[in-house]
Amino acid sequence: MRILLLGPQGSGKGTQAQRISSTYGVPHIATGDMLRAAMAAGTEVGHRVKPIYDAGGLVPDDLMIDLIRDRLSHPDAEDGFVLDGFPRTLEQAEALDDVLLEIGSPLDVVFDLQIDEQTCIERLLGRAREEGRSDDTPEAIATRLQLFRDATLPVIEHYRAQGKVVGVHAAGTVNEVFNEIQEALEQVGAR
Ligand code: AMP
Repeated sequence: MRILLLGPQGSGKGTQAQRISSTYGVPHIATGDMLRAAMAAGTEVGHRVKPIYDAGGLVPDDLMIDLIRDRLSHPDAEDGFVLDGFPRTLEQAEALDDVLLEIGSPLDVVFDLQIDEQTCIERLLGRAREEGRSDDTPEAIATRLQLFRDATLPVIEHYRAQGKVVGVHAAGTVNEVFNEIQEALEQVGAR
């Protein structure tokens, strides 16, 4: 099962992706986690992306596309994956479609985690207090939500045109949202 989660930051993509990963036994591939690991390890990529990441900006498409192309070629992604945080731009979406076409395994479903912006902001500020993520400052949060509207909403439309988008009410509890996702996955599986 190849699953993509889209939604603004604070919509619960990471939490739901982890639940999907452990329930269905597919790897959780999160580009934000990959970048945080690169920064923590002090790699060249980590140094390059840190100022962009901290400001809540978007890391250049070519770098992200190389990163995801490499990750999807690992054997654990052969039978499926749940992708979180990529693609964030139309260029990334088109590159992902190409990569998946090359390996003959298109996405099965794209979940659109729908939630109002104010709830996202409250959740992100709460996370800033708990986890101290360097991009959870009020300024970076505003930039990230703006970029979601400008760069990532067109990605949802791109997949809607492919008939792959299933909307999810993402403001509920973790269990409520996961139940909705599971019901949709059963239907997709039955198609
Ligand atoms: P996330 O953990 O998904 O919220 O991502 C945290 C940050 O990593 C984002 O605000 C961007 O700076 C960067 N990032 C993660 N994924 C991407 C992507 N697909 N394209 C560009 N930047 C990304």
